[in-house]
Amino acid sequence: MAFRTRFAPSPTGYLHLGGLRTALYTYLLTRRNHGTFVLRIEDTDQEREVPGAVEKIYASLAAAGLNYDEGPNVGGDYGPYIQSQRKDLYLPYAQQLVESGHAYYCFCTREELDERRQKAAERGETFKYDKHCLHLSREEREAKLAAGVPYVIRFNMPTEGTAGFDDLLYGRLDVDCSTLDDIILIKADGLPTYNFANVVDDHLMAITLVTRGTEYLSSTPKYNLIYEALGWEPPKYLHLPTVMADATRKLSKRYGDPSFEDLLDMGYLRDAIINFIALLGWSPRNERELYTMAELEEIFDVEGLNKSPSLFDMQKLTWFNAEYMRKLPFEEYLRLATPWFEKVLEPGKFDLRRLAELTQSRTEVLNRLPEMVDFLAKLPEFDNELYTHKKMKTNPEIAKDALAWVLPVLEGVSEWTESALHDTIMAAIAGSGRKNGQVLWPLRIAISGRAATPGGAVEIMYLLGREETLARVRHSLSRL
Ligand code: GLU
Repeated sequence: MAFRTRFAPSPTGYLHLGGLRTALYTYLLTRRNHGTFVLRIEDTDQEREVPGAVEKIYASLAAAGLNYDEGPNVGGDYGPYIQSQRKDLYLPYAQQLVESGHAYYCFCTREELDERRQKAAERGETFKYDKHCLHLSREEREAKLAAGVPYVIRFNMPTEGTAGFDDLLYGRLDVDCSTLDDIILIKADGLPTYNFANVVDDHLMAITLVTRGTEYLSSTPKYNLIYEALGWEPPKYLHLPTVMADATRKLSKRYGDPSFEDLLDMGYLRDAIINFIALLGWSPRNERELYTMAELEEIFDVEGLNKSPSLFDMQKLTWFNAEYMRKLPFEEYLRLATPWFEKVLEPGKFDLRRLAELTQSRTEVLNRLPEMVDFLAKLPEFDNELYTHKKMKTNPEIAKDALAWVLPVLEGVSEWTESALHDTIMAAIAGSGRKNGQVLWPLRIAISGRAATPGGAVEIMYLLGREETLARVRHSLSRL
């Protein structure tokens, strides 16, 4: 039997990380099973639609490397893949359900429903439609239809027994039918509700495995009853636990949690994010943490999924990113780092290739590069206490002496290369009986104003160039 899955986002904004994870897991299971991955846009609720959101979904999935085999912008045999372009095909199925007695016309007005809802609240009950219109006589119904009274079509849920389904992760889940509400299938404007369109499309698109968040767990028994009433075989279901921002709340853009796009903009690498997200709720059951997409496509399975909600840990993501930064081919790193360097360094003024060699191994996220290198553009203000370093046995006084001594040595360097700088200084230090650290530490502080820098004194002197280096040493010396 074919293995067909779908990712079915509603275009209400960004691709949040929970959504990305659902898409990723669905994609991986599909590849592992040599199936077909479908993208369907669920835009029946046009009021909630955000302009441009559909294009954002395409762009985000492409950026994530989640290529779908069928979808609005790639085509396929089961299209159209945007629900608003399918709006006329749902009503006949609802009418079929009316004819078979599984659904009925409901003429209750909003005011009437609000009143009953209010009364239920006063009695401390949760409101459930009371099947009022199910019991209209044939004549009453015909008269209302003939008079053009607006109506919706409701599903006639059973009131006794239980309804349920087998979830691939959570196992058998049953609910009491007495708790089920007669959900609306077709709205007064003739368009399907989100629930109904979802069921009809999963069937018409021959989806065999439905994957989605656990927030749909309580809807699924109702969906299954609709499948049965239509004489359709329900798909398999896999509900995925929530991604939490902390112990109390779901990850959400509304609270400022980053979306996938935000992370890319901050300078997180696609492959690092994917690797991190893959392990957010799934485990390969060993200690290994680094996986490429191709590897995940080979090994991802339902057995490794975790039933409990997972916690989004930004620090852990940053750890992954640093690992991926180190592993990038150098030319690729240079290409990615350059625009971040150029946020603070005048283009053409510094040897960025050399700078990139010095920063690659310590880059956690690209957006930290500007603050890591901005001392090159301008010597920051710093406290002379920075010269104090226990292990190097330095303090401001020793620094003053060392800088005064090293200045003429530097002035004497003829060729401003790292090797010439290195050899000249080391030879001078050796001849003077001074300790390396007592010269190099103060020198690096004097020209960078920072306790931590990419590269040491020699590399920084090279990057700054002769004049700037000498000017900084003189300036820092004068402040001691
Ligand atoms: N359109 C739904 C959403 O964006 C997806 C529901 C489903 O996958 O069945 O949450």
